[in-house]
Amino acid sequence: MRQKEATCPSCGKHGRFTHSGVQHWPQAVAAAHNLPPVIHLWTCPHCHSTLSEVVLFPANRPVPA
Ligand SMILES: [Zn+2]
Repeated sequence: MRQKEATCPSCGKHGRFTHSGVQHWPQAVAAAHNLPPVIHLWTCPHCHSTLSEVVLFPANRPVPA
């Protein structure tokens, strides 16, 4: 099970998010929204919101590998 630490934008708590899937966008759609064509989704351990990595790990912060 893949996990990453992050602060949840929904409930404001910090925790270990669980990988819950991948979202695929057509290249044209991704480019139009300035998003990567593959976006990983993570689930909050506190409020169980499913959030995209774009929200959890903004580009202006380094993402741990
Ligand atoms: Zn949360």
